[in-house]
Amino acid sequence: MLINYWPVQFTTITNRFGASPAYYKQFKLPGHEGLDFRVQYHSFVSPIYACTDGVISFIGYRNANDPYGYQVRIKTEYAGRAYEFVYAHLTNGSSERKAGDTARPGTVLGRGGATGNARGAHLHISIKRNEATRDKETTYPYDLIDPEPFFKEYIRAMGLEVEWK
Ligand SMILES: [Zn+2]
Repeated sequence: MLINYWPVQFTTITNRFGASPAYYKQFKLPGHEGLDFRVQYHSFVSPIYACTDGVISFIGYRNANDPYGYQVRIKTEYAGRAYEFVYAHLTNGSSERKAGDTARPGTVLGRGGATGNARGAHLHISIKRNEATRDKETTYPYDLIDPEPFFKEYIRAMGLEVEWK
């Protein structure tokens, strides 16, 4: 499986891939470009765990108005394809890792938050598969693909009970 660890302590998905197409038009996206997960943000702030192994490729903000806010990116390979995971909206400065570090499933990447374009604290995960846009494996730009089949495979294998809002 691509996913080998659940990224937060809660099993509530608060926003699905492809949701709210009208809202995402302004970002030139066909809809919500990932999955949102519930996090705890008051008194205790949820750790964010790596879902896969791989190498941390980026930590921080790409620019001052980065919609992903404080983010951790991990590059990994699965079944001969290259993937990049984006863990977005983390608490600013909360990662104790650095780019180039190796991650394992369950490695703590930082703490949940609401940085960037986030209405309330949550974890957003996007998955990119190298050349997916060029090869028309997705209708999304920037190689963004639907993460749901990968998470559903993990949910089935682990027998998790997940609430999809
Ligand atoms: Zn999101």
